[in-house]
Amino acid sequence: MDLIVDFNNVKQNKIVSLKNTNIEYKKPEFTNWTFEVLNNYINEVLEVAKKLFNFNYKDLTIAKNSRLKRAYARCWYIRNHIEFSDFLLEDYVDDFVKSTIIHEMCHALSYQFDGKKSKIDHNHDVTFKRMCKALCKELGVPDGSKASENGETRQEAIEKYNQHNQQGKITVGKFVETIIDIVIKVTINVFIKAIDVDTLFLIYTTLSPYNDS
Ligand SMILES: [Zn+2]
Repeated sequence: MDLIVDFNNVKQNKIVSLKNTNIEYKKPEFTNWTFEVLNNYINEVLEVAKKLFNFNYKDLTIAKNSRLKRAYARCWYIRNHIEFSDFLLEDYVDDFVKSTIIHEMCHALSYQFDGKKSKIDHNHDVTFKRMCKALCKELGVPDGSKASENGETRQEAIEKYNQHNQQGKITVGKFVETIIDIVIKVTINVFIKAIDVDTLFLIYTTLSPYNDS
């Protein structure tokens, strides 16, 4: 039986995972996306786009559309108009809402950027993807360039957060268990190494209930 404890393994698996679950998991953020907040965020993205892509864009118009049920949002890129569904703004986590806003804006922006050169429907082509990726990166939100991405709802995010917190507590328990385990194993290991076979035999014969001598 191998009693040597691999401390590196213990460190990697237990202590680092403890740190990940307890400290690094962020509480999900939800914004109350009123029309004004939405408009402010779009202006913020436009400012960044102006610096990144260095061209004079036409202003966008936006609307909240409670009747929009089949898509999170929709962009009429020739008219520079974007509509957002109520369910996107009310039910989804900020990261997804923001990357969707940027996704839709990029339909309009990429059309403005290379206009006639684009495909007629300007659907997720190279220019679009480059702009979207660059903007998302600059604004610190997940890449929104993929068209069919499904978002994480607020409810899912809350459940995941609670689960992570619970796992954190379990990990603490496991961590203490591991420490006790190490102490026992190291003690046995040191003990075995410290004594020779004769001493061991002596201990065995002294302690044995079948010892007649
Ligand atoms: Zn799209």
